[in-house]
Amino acid sequence: VKPVPSDIEVAQAATPLRISHVLEQCKVSMEEYEPYGHYKAKISDKISKKMTEENKGHYVVVAGITPTPLGEGKSTTTIGLVQALGAHLEKFAVACIRQPSMGPTFGIKGGAAGGGYSQVIPMEEMNMHLTGDIHAIGIATNLIAAAVDTRMFHENTQSDEALFKRLFPPNKKGERKIARNMTRRLKRLGIEKTNPDEWSEKERSKFVRLDLDADKVTWRRVVDMNDRFLRQITIGESPTEKGQTRQTGFDITVASEVMAVLAMCTSLEDMDERFGKMIVGTSKSGEAVNCDDLGVTGAVTALMLEAIKPTMMQTLEGTPVLIHAGPFANIATGNSSVIADKIALSMVGKDGFVVTEAGFGADIGLEKFVNLKCRSSGLKPNCAVIVATVRALKCHGGGPAVQAGKPLDFAYLEENVNMVKDGCSNLTRHIENTRSFGIPVVIAINAFPTDTPAEHEAIRQAALAAGASAVEICTHHAEGGLGATELGKAVTRVCEENASASEFKLGYSTEDMSIEEKVEHIAKEYYRAGGVEFSEQAKEKIALFTEQGFGHLPVCMAKTQYSFSHDANMKGAPAGFTLPIGDLRLSAGAGFLVPLVGAFPTIPGLPTRPAYYEISVDTETEQIMGL
Ligand code: ADP
Repeated sequence: VKPVPSDIEVAQAATPLRISHVLEQCKVSMEEYEPYGHYKAKISDKISKKMTEENKGHYVVVAGITPTPLGEGKSTTTIGLVQALGAHLEKFAVACIRQPSMGPTFGIKGGAAGGGYSQVIPMEEMNMHLTGDIHAIGIATNLIAAAVDTRMFHENTQSDEALFKRLFPPNKKGERKIARNMTRRLKRLGIEKTNPDEWSEKERSKFVRLDLDADKVTWRRVVDMNDRFLRQITIGESPTEKGQTRQTGFDITVASEVMAVLAMCTSLEDMDERFGKMIVGTSKSGEAVNCDDLGVTGAVTALMLEAIKPTMMQTLEGTPVLIHAGPFANIATGNSSVIADKIALSMVGKDGFVVTEAGFGADIGLEKFVNLKCRSSGLKPNCAVIVATVRALKCHGGGPAVQAGKPLDFAYLEENVNMVKDGCSNLTRHIENTRSFGIPVVIAINAFPTDTPAEHEAIRQAALAAGASAVEICTHHAEGGLGATELGKAVTRVCEENASASEFKLGYSTEDMSIEEKVEHIAKEYYRAGGVEFSEQAKEKIALFTEQGFGHLPVCMAKTQYSFSHDANMKGAPAGFTLPIGDLRLSAGAGFLVPLVGAFPTIPGLPTRPAYYEISVDTETEQIMGL
């Protein structure tokens, strides 16, 4: 494996095709896309409706073993695999990946367009504003936040009568009109009369007062930057807010529920309905208050009308890539969107391949891919690719801690077959878990220059013993698609053998299991915990959410990605531990409950030497450097 220039050097040395050429290959008609500059295009979400059981392509999900903080190359392998399939094996293949958040781009992790000779280009455009979806999500989320605080302000400073008069100003004829976005609240309250003047005193009062409890507002503002000083703030400090201050905070935009909805929804109608169900807080009498109650749903959907369309880009080898959504992998699914996958599946046709990526290790990303994303989409994967590296397996086999930004210990730079063998307990469990969903597994060993053949052989044997259908050594980082052709062939074979995906099954049923039972199922079956301990706060939330009618939702665990357990230091395949659930959140629009296994900063911070120190523009060539 030869040395590879930096990601940006490789990306900038390539000449991308005009996006219209890429779209012509995909047989997307000119009415179905809209170019954004030369190398990107928004694709109509309506194409997803063309997907049928008969015309859809093979569906491949790329997941990983429990990673180190350096990342084990899931994005790189996703891109490498479509390059192999599309540019070397004469298949029609499309990759579906997430849009990176700009926080990490300027912070620690850097971009997420793949790496080496397996990248999406132009990587600068992918890693920064792209086509503005994240901006739209930010504005939509902040519109809701503004609506919440302003509504509380107006309710606190006005009588029912005054609120009624302002909400329903009479027209010249003296008639009071119901605004377009008020109808869903009327339905929720069971008010049938459409003339507000005919409402009873009680109906009036019920309609005009959401009566939000300021201490129980859960909706937060967002910004797509690692600005840790916004984690907790006091708002309403200006005298114009008449002393109505309260404590709240910001999340990073990609952690918002609007982003989670974008990733989970199946159509514009579905997105609109889900936005309406997003809960902003609890009323003083204990009722959940949602966006329909606020009357803001239609405006939020209007802001998101372009964002629902995925963005088409290309790999270094000219194969198509759809970029869409980018939800957090802890408090949300960490998977790219259902809509992008469906568009891609219909685009490639029944002999083609769609390669989609599930974030974090397979215990998180793939479990959520199955139990949340596939549950919502109804799609069945034909094959899973699990990416493994010698580096991460050594870390699971007793190697010293790996830290981002620090040089690797020599244990990672010289051969140690036994350490790799010991670490394979982690790989084995991911294979077992994935197969328990009825998905055949192909292992992609993402090769690094320091790996040795004996180390690769140890991985191969462990993976086959655990039931992997194939194990392939991949050098796509150094060689592009050519380095993943064996992986491409193995994936093709497995998909063709499993074309009906008839063995595929969801992990649990949502309706007849309590919230506790669902959490215990995930903890015991996939993490191999001995039991689960719910804090008092978690128990209260479970009671509240069950009472409010959300007990039937599936569960989206917020857990560290660095261990099967709650403790990032428990490497390998720990078992029998007690999994602590500290708290629970509700994402009623996205359609899941979020048990928190530990505390998660929902807006990261910047290190002392952030990535932005390296990022600049060559003012002669106008090229971005250092991404
Ligand atoms: P993940 O998606 O698992 O977080 P990425 O695909 O983003 O990981 O890769 C993380 C980083 O590691 C990228 O900068 C990429 O260039 C680098 N990388 C990935 N695979 C290799 C490899 N085989 N050799 C060297 N560097 C690699």
